[in-house]
Amino acid sequence: MSRIYNFAAGPAVLPEPVLEQASREMLDWHGCGTSVMEMSHRGKEFVGIAAAAEADLRELLGVPVNYKVLFLQGGATLQFAAIPMNLLRGKKSADYVNTGEWSKKAIKEAKRYAGVNIASSAEDKNFTYAPKQAAWKLDPDAAYVHVCTNETIGGVEFNWVPDTGSVPLVADMSSHILSRPVEVDKYGLIYAGAQKNIGPAGLTIVIVREDLLGQTLPITPTVLDYKAQAEADSMLNTPATYGIYIAGLVFQWLKKLGGLQKIAQMNREKANLLYDFLDETEFYYSPVEKEDRSLMNVPFKLRNEALNDDFLKQAKARGMIELKGHRAVGGMRASIYNAMPIEGVNALVNFMREFQTRQG
Ligand SMILES: *Cc1c(COP(=O)(O)O)cnc(C)c1O
Repeated sequence: MSRIYNFAAGPAVLPEPVLEQASREMLDWHGCGTSVMEMSHRGKEFVGIAAAAEADLRELLGVPVNYKVLFLQGGATLQFAAIPMNLLRGKKSADYVNTGEWSKKAIKEAKRYAGVNIASSAEDKNFTYAPKQAAWKLDPDAAYVHVCTNETIGGVEFNWVPDTGSVPLVADMSSHILSRPVEVDKYGLIYAGAQKNIGPAGLTIVIVREDLLGQTLPITPTVLDYKAQAEADSMLNTPATYGIYIAGLVFQWLKKLGGLQKIAQMNREKANLLYDFLDETEFYYSPVEKEDRSLMNVPFKLRNEALNDDFLKQAKARGMIELKGHRAVGGMRASIYNAMPIEGVNALVNFMREFQTRQG
C-alpha cells in the first residue's frame, strides 16, 4: 500500500490512524457483528457512538452548556439557507462581511430569505485580506452578523474575533474548525461541513446558542429547524451515521494528540514552513496579506504562469496531488489541514525548491 500527499481543499486528507481503525472495525464493530453503516441509528450502539462524538467535540472546543451541538446533513451550503430561516427571529435583515467566494455564496442564498446588508467587503483588493472591524458598517438592528472565518479558496483567515456586541456573530468555520482553540461563547452560531477538517462529506456540524432557537420562518423545513433537531438529538430523520462515527474517531485522535492547543502549534509550524519559503523566493509568491494568511489553505503562484502545468505534472509524479488553485484565484493551492503530516509539507517545499532550480 502506498499513500500519497493529498493537498485537496475538500474532501481532504484524513488521519491515517483513523482510517486504519475504521478498516479494522469495518465488518464487525466492537463484537456486535455488523458494521457501523448497517446499524440502526436508534440502537444503543449507534446512540452511544453519537453521544461520544458529541461529548468529545464539546470537550475539544470547550462548548458551553447553553449551546446545542447538531449533526446535520446538506453541507455548509444548506446552512447558508438554514441560518436566515432560523436566526432572523422577526428582524428584517442580517449583516454579512464579504471576504471571498464562500462569503459570496452565503450572501446569495441568504438574500432569498432575508434582507442582506454588506457590512464590509474585501472585493476592492481581490479578496486578499480580512477587513478590519473599524471599516465595517454594522446595523445595530441586524438579526446577526455573518463571517466566513477561513476563506478556503482565497486563503484568508481571521486571526481575531469580531466584536458584534449583542448582535449574534455567525461563523462559517468549514475549513478551519478544530485547527486551533475557539472562544465559542463569542459566537451565536458556528457551522462547518465535515469534509475539510472533521471527517467524510455528508456531515455538517452546527453549534448554536440555545436562546436563539425556536423562532424559525414559517417556511422552514422541519429538518432545518435547529430547535426540532436539538430536541431530537439530531435524529429527526436518519442522520449521516457513518460520517458521525468517523468524525468521532477524528475527535479521539485529536484528544490523544494533545487537543487544540497542540494541533494549533503543529499547524503553525507546517504553515510557516511553506510561507517562509514563499517569502524567501522570487519564483513563487503568496497573494494574501501576511497577517491574514490562512494556516489551512495556502494559495500561491508561480511568477511565470506558463510553468503551471509542468509544476502540477511533476508534483504528481512525486506523489503530491490536488495542488491546482481554484479557478477563481488561479495558480496553486496547498490545503494543509490537521491530518496533513509535516512530512507532506516538507516534501512539497523540497519539490518547489528543486522545480525552481531546474527552471534556473
Ligand atoms: C467547502 C466549504 C463550503 C461548502 O461546503 P459544502 O459541504 O460543499 O456545502 C462552505 N464554506 C466554506 C468556508 C467551505 O470551505
